[in-house]
Amino acid sequence: MNQSPETWLARVRHGERLPDEAALDVYLHAPIEDLRSAATAVRARFAAPQQVSLLVDRNVNYTNVCITDCKFCEFYRPPGHSESYVLTRDTLTAKLDELVAVGGTRVLLQGGHNPDLRLQWYVDLLRWMRADWPGLQLDAFSPSEIEHIAALEGISTPDVLRALTVAGLGGIPGGGAEILEDSIRDVVSPRKTRTRDWLRIMGEAQDLGLYTSASQVIGFGEEATHRLAALRAVREHQDSRESSGRLGFLAFVAWPLQFESRYGHVFGELKGWDLGADADAYLRHIAFCRVYLDNIPHFQASWPTMGLEVAGRALHHGCDDMGGIMMEENVVSQAGSIHCSVTEAEVREVILNAGFVPWKRDSWYRPSGSSA
Ligand code: SF4
Repeated sequence: MNQSPETWLARVRHGERLPDEAALDVYLHAPIEDLRSAATAVRARFAAPQQVSLLVDRNVNYTNVCITDCKFCEFYRPPGHSESYVLTRDTLTAKLDELVAVGGTRVLLQGGHNPDLRLQWYVDLLRWMRADWPGLQLDAFSPSEIEHIAALEGISTPDVLRALTVAGLGGIPGGGAEILEDSIRDVVSPRKTRTRDWLRIMGEAQDLGLYTSASQVIGFGEEATHRLAALRAVREHQDSRESSGRLGFLAFVAWPLQFESRYGHVFGELKGWDLGADADAYLRHIAFCRVYLDNIPHFQASWPTMGLEVAGRALHHGCDDMGGIMMEENVVSQAGSIHCSVTEAEVREVILNAGFVPWKRDSWYRPSGSSA
């Protein structure tokens, strides 16, 4: 079993799986060129080698009220705070009309854990959007929001998911995953969904036929072993879905923590932790993830946190998708990211300059315009 990282990655290129016992050595010591070429080989099993997808969407943060107090979050405000909000129907109408006008096909709805919004509020919201903007796919509510609503109502998470799906929900984005390793979650988001529950709720959504994605944020001060434990949990979830013939995750995205203010001060300066990740560390991480997670079809480059130039380079590290061309972004931008929105033309140019052909997709990774 004493093989070098280069040997393991050559075996991956020839179709083998990277075993768990080799993962840490490969993660820490593999030459980046070997990681890149193995990531490219795994990518080719799922996506046309010369093509890169994008989709036009809008991120709508419907409320910033939250009671969960994640240590890295600069977005939320506690109930009653003078800067707290719940978006009105008039504001939402303006945002969605604008999205449709630029050819958008998806709205991403995400918000805080607001104790004043009950299940019926979400059901009414989705029904209204489904009726008035029938061409938009509604991708909404991370597992932690689903868990929060279920707790408020005193019902199960499958019951919440079923009610939302009947009202028009199409998919659950991979938000709230951070690091799916509970010793790190205990530090950075102690009141948020546990790893097992996050994956369970995603499985429940997948059982209802919803599209889902997995995600990972790195740079909380964790060790490589924590990152690998989180990836292992996702790979095992996906394996178990596949082996029983059920729908699993459609996509994966990773990005470094944005930490300029509160979290950076508490953990970076006071504890001396190494936070976030630079471009090289991000590219190495995403290439490794593509190699290790050999059962997830699509990988998104994270331009909102890394910028378009690095996202273009990520296309040569296993990514086959540029994700949503967001018309608006409020969460990572408030934590220090400066890449808040880009145009479709800018993203197409980055894809072309990286040597790929852009194509526009929907939430299911079908050509945009296919029936929903
Ligand atoms: S990350 Fe989400 S759950 Fe955590 S405090 Fe912010 S809004 Fe609330």
